[in-house]
Amino acid sequence: MFGGLTHEPAIELSRKLVEMTPAPLDKVFLADSGSVAVEVALKMAIQYWHARGQANKHKLITIRNGYHGDTFGAMSVCDPVTGMHEIFSGMLPQQFFAPAPQIGFDEPWDESDIAELAQMLEQHNDEIAALILEPIVQGAGGMRFYSPEYLKRARALCDQYDVLLIADEIATGFGRSGKLFACEHAGITPDIMCLGKAITGGYMTLAATLTTTEIGETISKGGAGCFMHGPTFMGNPLACAVANASLTLLQEMDWQSAVHRIEGELKRGLAPAADLESVANVRCLGAIGVIEMKEPVNTADIQSLFIKRGLWIRPFGKLVYVMPPYVMSNEDLALLTSGMVESIREYRG
Ligand SMILES: *Cc1c(COP(=O)(O)O)cnc(C)c1O
Repeated sequence: MFGGLTHEPAIELSRKLVEMTPAPLDKVFLADSGSVAVEVALKMAIQYWHARGQANKHKLITIRNGYHGDTFGAMSVCDPVTGMHEIFSGMLPQQFFAPAPQIGFDEPWDESDIAELAQMLEQHNDEIAALILEPIVQGAGGMRFYSPEYLKRARALCDQYDVLLIADEIATGFGRSGKLFACEHAGITPDIMCLGKAITGGYMTLAATLTTTEIGETISKGGAGCFMHGPTFMGNPLACAVANASLTLLQEMDWQSAVHRIEGELKRGLAPAADLESVANVRCLGAIGVIEMKEPVNTADIQSLFIKRGLWIRPFGKLVYVMPPYVMSNEDLALLTSGMVESIREYRG
C-alpha cells in the first residue's frame, strides 16, 4: 500500500487512466480486484455524503440484472435472483432495486422504461448515496445491452436528486462495447467509475476506482481526514507495470477497427443460431457475442461438444457467450462462431 509513499509504475498508470477516462475523473484509487474496486466506490459515495453532513444518505440504488462482484457490499447490489448470492441474502444490507432496462441498445426509446427508477429516486433520495449500474452492457447478470437513452436519463436523474452515479465498467472498460468506455455511448460521465478485468489484459489482478477532484477533496476534508480504505496490495508495482504495458499496447493499436471487425464477424457467424429451436435470442455489441438459449444449459454436456471442436467456452444459465481478445483473426473467429452454432445444433438439453 502507499501509506505516504508511491512508485513509478503506479504514477504512470494513474496518469494513463486519468488521460483515458472522461473528464473530470482525475483521482485514482487502485485496488486488487474488481469486487474491491466496487466496495471502494460504494464507500467513497457514502463517505462523501457523510463529509457533507448528510450521513443519512448511506443507501444504494441499482437496477435489476446487475452484477458487481462477490464481496458483501458488492453482493448487496447484485441482482437478488440472478446475482448468485441468494444464500447470503440474510446478511446483506437492503438496497433499492429498480427494474432492469427493457429497451435494447438499438430500439426506439420510451420514457416509461425509466419511470420506476425516477419514482424511487424522487421518494428516497434523502437516504440514497449513489446509483450504481453497469453502463449499456449488463454482464454476468444477464448479458443484456440496453438503450443509451436510459443511461442519459439516469445521469440527469442523479443530478436532479443529488445522488452520485457509479459506473461499473469492470467488464465494459477499454473498448469492449465498441467505445473505450461504455458511458461514451450516452455521452455521460459518472461521478465514480470502476475498472478491472482488461486493465491488465487479464494477466494480473488489479482494479481501479476513479472519481472527481471535488469528491476526493470533500472526502479528505471530512472528519476522518482521508478515505477509509487501504488494501495492502492496492498498487502492487508488478500489476501496475503489467497494466501500463497492456494499456500501451491498446493505445498503440487501432482497437476501434479491431472491435468493429470482431462485431461484424460475431454478428455474421452467430446469426444462423437464431434459427435453432433451442435458441431464444442472438445479440452482439462490440466484441461481445451472446446466444441466449430458451432453457438453462447443462454445462458439462454442452462443453464436451465445444471441446470436440477445439473451443473452450464457459456458458452460464441460459447464456452461451464469448468476449474474444481484440487480436483474434477472422479465421479464428469463424472457427469460434461456426463451432458454437454447430455445438448448439447438436446439443440436446
Ligand atoms: C467481474 C466483475 C466484477 C467483479 O470483479 P472481480 O475482479 O471478479 O472481483 C464487478 N463488476 C463487473 C461488472 C464485473 O464484470
